[in-house]
Amino acid sequence: MSDCIFCKIVNGEIPSDKIYEDDKVFVFNDISPQSPVHFLVIPKEHISSIKYIDEESVDIINHIILVINKIAKEKGLDDKGYRIVNNCGEFGGQTVEHLHFHVLGGRQLMWPPG
Ligand code: C5P
Repeated sequence: MSDCIFCKIVNGEIPSDKIYEDDKVFVFNDISPQSPVHFLVIPKEHISSIKYIDEESVDIINHIILVINKIAKEKGLDDKGYRIVNNCGEFGGQTVEHLHFHVLGGRQLMWPPG
């Protein structure tokens, strides 16, 4: 989508601190980290939010989980643990309308969220 900031990151029109990419996903460090490790995993295909995932597109979620676990392990998060966050819609706190999963780790995280 031409006016989507995350599509522009995938296309290289906007710079990012890239960690990983393959044919389906792009992974980069969050520009405003909320923990010592905070990266985002996004599908290369524009999907506005998780609520649009259906039977046809759900395979991307499986792939994203595998990529998250691989990178979390590479970053040494698998020992103490990490948090995967998906914000959906206004009340869910979603500010960028391109599906993304936050992965946060490297410190004790609190619960419940605000
Ligand atoms: O879940 P939410 O939509 O609020 O998260 C969007 C995230 O995208 C924020 O954590 C923000 O810091 C990040 N971001 C980024 N690089 C940009 C724009 C936003 O990492 N250029």
